[in-house]
Amino acid sequence: MNTRKRIAMIAHDNRKHDLLDWVRCNRGVLLHHDLFATGTTGAILASELGLDITRFASGPPGGDQQVGAAIVEGRIDFVVFFSDPLEPHPHDVDVKALLRIAVVYNIPVACNRATADFLVRLPS
Ligand code: PGA
Repeated sequence: MNTRKRIAMIAHDNRKHDLLDWVRCNRGVLLHHDLFATGTTGAILASELGLDITRFASGPPGGDQQVGAAIVEGRIDFVVFFSDPLEPHPHDVDVKALLRIAVVYNIPVACNRATADFLVRLPS
């Protein structure tokens, strides 16, 4: 990984408050990285925390697939994906495809705060 990492962030609706809190706690570190997010997640993080975030489409109409494509193109170093494990989603197949492509390309995916804390603190 480069020192400046390219981080993609995604949160399902019931986990958006968790991601917002995590980003708020790590804002100082995240300012030194290139941030990407799916549509609604990115809009919330940008408006609440004033971060510069490159936004993909919202998840259900294809944003997760865009994150996967960015991984294929070598444009993402790791993913913070706070998914909702208690509700079904119409785009579950897209989420599965994203996680599969992350495995294929050896891209770390943090699905909870403990793992996200670990990844964001890793030295280059
Ligand atoms: P959103 O998409 O950031 O546009 O809500 C995330 C998702 O549901 O996968």
